[in-house]
Amino acid sequence: MQSDTKYDVIIVGGGPAGGLLGYYLACRNLKILIIEKKHLPRYKACGGGLTRRAFKAIPFDISDVVEDYTYTAKMLLMDRPLFSKTLDRPIIAMVMRDRFDQFLIEKAVSMGAVFQENTSFRTISGKTGDLTVTTSKGKFKTQIIAGADGVNSRVSKILGLRVKCNFMTAIEGEVYPENPADIERFKGSVHYDFGVIPKGYGWVFPKKTHLSIGVGTFSPKLKNWKQSLNSYLALKNLSSYKKLKPLKGHLIPFRPKRNNIVSCSKGLLVGDASGFADPLTGEGLYYAIQGAKIASEAIIKGFESEFEHINRYTKSIKKQFQKDLICAGRMAHMIYTFPNLGRRILNVHADDLALKQLAVICGELTYSKLFRELLLQMMSPSKIIPVIFKSLS
Ligand SMILES: Cc1cc2nc3c(=O)[nH]c(=O)nc-3n(C[C@H](O)[C@H](O)[C@H](O)COP(=O)(O)OP(=O)(O)OC[C@H]3O[C@@H](n4cnc5c(N)ncnc54)[C@H](O)[C@@H]3O)c2cc1C
Repeated sequence: MQSDTKYDVIIVGGGPAGGLLGYYLACRNLKILIIEKKHLPRYKACGGGLTRRAFKAIPFDISDVVEDYTYTAKMLLMDRPLFSKTLDRPIIAMVMRDRFDQFLIEKAVSMGAVFQENTSFRTISGKTGDLTVTTSKGKFKTQIIAGADGVNSRVSKILGLRVKCNFMTAIEGEVYPENPADIERFKGSVHYDFGVIPKGYGWVFPKKTHLSIGVGTFSPKLKNWKQSLNSYLALKNLSSYKKLKPLKGHLIPFRPKRNNIVSCSKGLLVGDASGFADPLTGEGLYYAIQGAKIASEAIIKGFESEFEHINRYTKSIKKQFQKDLICAGRMAHMIYTFPNLGRRILNVHADDLALKQLAVICGELTYSKLFRELLLQMMSPSKIIPVIFKSLS
């Protein structure tokens, strides 16, 4: 099948990055086609925790697809409470990705974007401004292409871009407790559990009628996922729900290299495809959502400047994210690479760390500032002595 329509932008991937980019561009009257290899709605292994900074960055109301708002964040070390804080405003909006992603696509379509599912991107030919995109459902003409096709982006490879980063591996399951009390005891709060998996953490994210539970690690060596998740379920007194459905492990990119290139005159990458996610928590949705906005601005300017601005997108997205993520990466390194030091830091500084981390995910503090403040605090004798003392005891 060959379509006669020539699109301004073809977006590959119907996840949050693709859906929102489509929305922003369609709002500017560009002719947009979003292609998605799967049929929506589809299950996506994801905690579905939209932090405050993430849901605030979405330019329309999403309450129709929010399962629950979370006001309390808890940090625990092997189920021993280290920190708990309740805010007067939601910290996280809980969504299920099947409904959320479809909702974003519907918003893009309502603004005029065309959505074509069950269509896999294969390759691109032609020159900037006059590209032919080959898919499993035929060829399409476009001026430029955007890769929002996730962590193993094919668009990135075909465009010859450079996205090198590290990967966190995470596994997640949906638990539907028969006993309502098992949902009630988690309602309204998120649990971040350290010590349950090497170089990582476990989480319980409560949804309307069930719990999303997962573990993630920054260690490339760990393989026995199911065992880690089962031990975590036991720790949270949920071991009777071991039969999780569905159960999938996935990669989350983090710590993108400084010399990465995520755009050229033919197109650009956004969301996981561009390699940006939080190296402390694995939060990727904020970077997909905010990245879509930055990408849309680069594309709109690109159409006014013979595509020159699309090239410059690499610089603008790094300016927005990279410095902050380098600081977050340094903290993650301290906490996860040296587990004993990490535990000591958590034991002594949990309050400081968690309060500031909360401010970051609420969009009220940057990692760069947090890192500077923490270094200054932790180097003060009154703070460093307890860490040394704990390590000797
Ligand atoms: C277990 C787990 C839990 C997580 N929990 C959270 C969380 O609670 N909060 C948070 O902020 N982040 C979380 N993340 C990270 C988050 O899921 C990602 O950062 C987010 O999905 C990135 O969105 P995206 O649109 O870039 O990519 P994706 O959501 O991966 O979407 C990419 C889309 O492209 C499609 N696609 C791929 N290849 C092609 C192709 N060749 N042709 C056509 N379509 C294609 C895919 O089918 C998919 O629909 C989690 C990740 C994992 C693995």
